[in-house]
Amino acid sequence: MQVRFWGVRGSVASPGRDTVVYGGNTACLELRLNGSDRVIIIDAGSGIRGLGAHLISSRSGQIEAEIFLTHTHWDHIMGFPFFDPIYRPNTRLKVYGPITYEDDTLDRIVGDQLSYRYFPVRHSELSAAISYHQLREGEMRFSDGLRIKTKYLNHSLLCLGYRFEFDGKVLCTGYDTEPFQNVFSDDPDSPGYDPVVCEEGAQAVADANAALLGFFDGADLLIHDAQYTLSEYAGGKSGWGHSPMEHAIATAQAAGVKKVVLFHHDPDRRDDELQALEDRFRAARQPHGAPEILVAREGMLLKV
Ligand SMILES: [Zn+2]
Ligand SMILES: [Zn+2]
Repeated sequence: MQVRFWGVRGSVASPGRDTVVYGGNTACLELRLNGSDRVIIIDAGSGIRGLGAHLISSRSGQIEAEIFLTHTHWDHIMGFPFFDPIYRPNTRLKVYGPITYEDDTLDRIVGDQLSYRYFPVRHSELSAAISYHQLREGEMRFSDGLRIKTKYLNHSLLCLGYRFEFDGKVLCTGYDTEPFQNVFSDDPDSPGYDPVVCEEGAQAVADANAALLGFFDGADLLIHDAQYTLSEYAGGKSGWGHSPMEHAIATAQAAGVKKVVLFHHDPDRRDDELQALEDRFRAARQPHGAPEILVAREGMLLKV
């Protein structure tokens, strides 16, 4: 497999002189399988615009692609109306994404971006053949040997981690997410303290965090949420749905991952800050068997 990073930023696109090195586009990954024409796209953030232009310029004839959305927060779907292949009749597109518990289905949530109140073209006017497929936790097997597993993460709406297995290699995504934490106080002096409920909560949290490690187990590459530093997270960002970088690295270590990519950068994180963090993490003494640590950059190509 190989993966190219077309967008690495979280929350909102952040172009400018302070983000030219690591990139300002929001989440979009292109996954290719060895010996296959298959085009797999993970998330449709603003980075998908460049990918669309690349697909059109590099492929004559029909474009067939599958988009796997981790979730439908705007930074992960905002690029969809600007994905040029949707305006071409020779495009066939399958869009996968998590079910929601809202009234609207995936096709409405993504497609309603293309309505006159937001955009000059309506979804019904698109030339491409587009189908939508809602996913739960589970597993899909395809005839070419690709296996995709999905797992709910810890975010403010249903968000899927993906595990792609092909030809003996494994690539996982773990974003947007943060560590599961016990919402029940363990302080006996706090109002409503209940030791039984607290203990049950702690066990549920331990089980959920262990299950996620199992999902990432032994991956060759893990692309993980790393929006904050540990001090930012401890200083008020806990509960915002994103992980500190240190947690991403510790998760990769605990799951026996070979390489971890820190992803979903905060829009305010400047290039010099990301470079300093990357240097610090890579220079730190790591235990035997620790994963290689990379900070995601727009345009980066990794072979798995
Ligand atoms: Zn996000
Ligand atoms: Zn999100």
